Amino acid sequence: MATTLDYKCPHCGGKLEFQPGTEQMQCPYCDSVVDVAALQNLDEVLKNTPADEMHYHEDAGAAWSEGEQAAMQVYVCKSCGGEIISDENTAATSCPFCGNPVVLSGRLSGVLKPDYVIPFQLDKKAAKDALKKHLEGKRLLPKVFKSEHHIDEIKGIYVPFWLFDASADADLNFKGTRTRMWSDSKFNYTETSHFAIHRSGSLGFQNVPVDGSQKMADDLMESIEPFDFSKAVDFQTAYLSGFFADKYDVGAEESKAHANARIKQSAENAFRNTVDGYNTLTLENSSVRFQNGKAKYALYPVWLLNTTWRGKQYTFAMNGQTGKFVGDLPVDNGQFWKYVLAFTPAYGAVAFGILWLLHHFF
Ligand SMILES: [Zn+2]
Ligand SMILES: [Zn+2]
Repeated sequence: MATTLDYKCPHCGGKLEFQPGTEQMQCPYCDSVVDVAALQNLDEVLKNTPADEMHYHEDAGAAWSEGEQAAMQVYVCKSCGGEIISDENTAATSCPFCGNPVVLSGRLSGVLKPDYVIPFQLDKKAAKDALKKHLEGKRLLPKVFKSEHHIDEIKGIYVPFWLFDASADADLNFKGTRTRMWSDSKFNYTETSHFAIHRSGSLGFQNVPVDGSQKMADDLMESIEPFDFSKAVDFQTAYLSGFFADKYDVGAEESKAHANARIKQSAENAFRNTVDGYNTLTLENSSVRFQNGKAKYALYPVWLLNTTWRGKQYTFAMNGQTGKFVGDLPVDNGQFWKYVLAFTPAYGAVAFGILWLLHHFF
C-alpha cells in the first residue's frame, strides 16, 4: 500500500519517500517529515471539495410591451458606434460618447426592458453648474470647452447595469505555515510546521454590479460611484422622458460570468480574513454554491459631456444621483506659453531660492 502513495513535500514540492516501519514520509531534498495519515486526510478534503454551482433562478430584464417598444427610438453614432435609446419626444443630435452627430436608426428591438431605474435626482442645471465650476479659473482652457452652446450639450444618460444577488455557501481550503527559529552554540534551527485550514460558511451578496456598457469606461464609472440602489424604483418608460439610455452591449448571460467571478473572489477574500496566526497562507481550492441567485437589470443616472479637442477626447461625468463628478481637461499649448512668459520673473526668483537652499545645506 505504501508504495502507491505519491505525495509532494509541503515544504519544497519534492517527491516524498515512505519510511519503512514508520507511519511517516520524508522528503529526500529538505528532510521534512510528514505524517502519512495527515497527508491522506488533506488529500481527501481537497478531492471532495464540491464544484462551484452558481445558478440564478430569476433572470434579469423583462420584455417591452408593444406599445412601449413602439414609443422608443434608437440613435446611432456613425463615428464611434454608440447607440442610445430615447422616447419619441426626446431627440438627440450629438453622441454623448464622442460628440459627433447621431442619426435616428429606427425603433427599439432586440434588447430587454430594465427592471429598475434610479431616477435622476439632479437636473440639467445642476449638471451645468457643476461643469462650469469645474472649468472656472482654468485660464489655459481652449475656448471650445467654455462655449455655452457646447456646455448645453451635456446629456442625462442612463447607464445599464446588471445586478446580482445570491446567498452562497462556501468551502475553502488553505495551506498555512508557522515558522519557529532558535539557536544553540553550534547551529541555527528553523522549524516550519504545515497546516491544512478549512473554512466553510454562508455569505450574502447584494447588487453585485456588472457594467452593461462598453462605451462607458469602467474606470470612469468607478470614479463616480457609488449609486444608492435603495432609491431605485420599478422601471417605467416615463423616467426616460428628457433623458437617454445607453443601449447595452454586454448582455445578461455574459455578465453572469463576470458576477460569478467577483462573487467567488469576494468569498475567498472574506474567508481569508478569518484565518490568522500563520506566517504564510495559500488558498488551495474553494467552492461557492448557490441556487437561488437573482439577476436584475437597472439603469443608473449619469450626466455626460465628451469634448474632442485636437483629436483627443475629454470627459466630464457626474453621478445624477449624488453629484459626484470627474473631468479631465487639456492645456492649450498656445495659451500655456503666453502664460509662462508673462510670469518669467517670478520663476527666476524661485529658482534662485532653491539654489541658495542647496548651497546652504551641503
Ligand atoms: Zn522537501
Ligand atoms: Zn459617438
